[in-house]
Amino acid sequence: MGLDDKLVRKKLEVLLKDEILVQKYLRIFGPRLDMNNINKLKQDHLRASPEGSMGEKDDPTYVIKVKCPICNQADLSCYEIKAKSLTTAPDRFLVPRYSGVKPFRTVNYSLMAVTVCPSCLFASPDKKDFLTFSVQSRTENKSQISPFVLEDLRKKVDERKALINAADFTDYFKHPRTTETGIASYRLAIHRALVETSLESPLAWYKAGMYSLKIALLQRDAGKDDDAILKDAVAYLAKSFRQSELKNPEMEYQLVYLLSALYLRLDDQTQCQNYMGVLDKWKSELAKAAKDDPSINTAHVDRWLDKAKELWTDRETPDLWKH
Ligand SMILES: [Zn+2]
Repeated sequence: MGLDDKLVRKKLEVLLKDEILVQKYLRIFGPRLDMNNINKLKQDHLRASPEGSMGEKDDPTYVIKVKCPICNQADLSCYEIKAKSLTTAPDRFLVPRYSGVKPFRTVNYSLMAVTVCPSCLFASPDKKDFLTFSVQSRTENKSQISPFVLEDLRKKVDERKALINAADFTDYFKHPRTTETGIASYRLAIHRALVETSLESPLAWYKAGMYSLKIALLQRDAGKDDDAILKDAVAYLAKSFRQSELKNPEMEYQLVYLLSALYLRLDDQTQCQNYMGVLDKWKSELAKAAKDDPSINTAHVDRWLDKAKELWTDRETPDLWKH
């Protein structure tokens, strides 16, 4: 962004007092100041929310527009979380539950996180999987998914349609979503991640596993049984572990904790202990290495091993998995 563009942005921030409106202005009118356009945008904004901007102000999310990388459908709404608007409390499998931080209201972001193309049902909670528009350079950014995977996904529209129990998808994934449509959005995202695994995209098994855990929490909080989807999750995450998808040791400790927690939940105590054993082994290896190199610390592996042991100790506690 040039110096002039930065100056225009600063002035727009003062005049519009709203980051989302600034982005919208730059998208529509480019980095040129024009009071008529500014007033027009303000008026449109007020008309769109009749109670003034109050409705907007307590909304912890904002929308950016993205384009489908498969069928080029434009204007898809992708919901992002405003800074410092929601706090999160993780369940046993590290999936967040959200609460609003005053003055923001509480929303279940897990219902909104996945953007779904209503034409071809391409779905992802990561906006970088879509085509995005860069306000600064006024160019379109490519999807981060490889062209080979996109090609494969293009051929599988019917498979995606078969996953969803609806005849018409035009409004099926519109917001606000129900638990059912929120879960359906993650099922589509899992389908996408599994296509990515066939072409060995980075983190594909991990993503399929983590999306499954999101579905499990939505089901649990709706009072439904989450056994089947937890079994899927553990299968995907174990593959991720075996293929060493995570290149960051801290993430890997966390993954092994998840595997031990999931096996414990699914009554496979042997596997649970095997994964705790992995953490224990890493811990002693690190402790040994730390004797020669004081910069190595075992705090992270300790933390995840302690968490796994805590669950093991509490394994007979009723409601252990409800939280
Ligand atoms: Zn599409």
